[in-house]
Amino acid sequence: MSQLMQVIQLGNPILRQLAKPVENISDRNIQQLIDNLIATADNANGVGIAAPQVAQSYQIFIVASHPNPRYPHAPEMEPTAMINPEIVSHSSETIKGWEGCLSIPGIRGLVPRYKEIEVTYSDRNGQLQKQHFTDFVARIFQHELDHLHGISFLDRVESNLDLITEQEYQKIVVNNT
Ligand code: ZN
Repeated sequence: MSQLMQVIQLGNPILRQLAKPVENISDRNIQQLIDNLIATADNANGVGIAAPQVAQSYQIFIVASHPNPRYPHAPEMEPTAMINPEIVSHSSETIKGWEGCLSIPGIRGLVPRYKEIEVTYSDRNGQLQKQHFTDFVARIFQHELDHLHGISFLDRVESNLDLITEQEYQKIVVNNT
């Protein structure tokens, strides 16, 4: 059984902390937290969520790319828990793309991210995974990884001119379809 968790917002000091590595992935509370994170992201139309966003300062996030009203062009994938994740290498190329955050409602920003990344993480069964991500999924990974280091997408935006409201973002998305 999963339950929805309250998403904390920018200003809460937990979002600025370095999250703790998970030592025992099979722990019942960690497994429950993963289920709750998946349900909470899905309920909020999120394509990812990090444990610190529900006030649990652990190195866990969910990547759950799928098309939805907030990201109509997102690729489809199974929601995947990534534990103790790291970027092991990345392209030199960065691209700017629109991001939002469940902890920063109403604001979108154009954020530069690496186009391609090689990552490692432990899955929810404790197996070490090594994967290559590109474009939007690479963007989600980098956004969520930042949450584990106390960084928000606002810290990555190069200029205040790259910030817009959700309402204006929806107009851009509609115009691009
Ligand atoms: Zn976020």
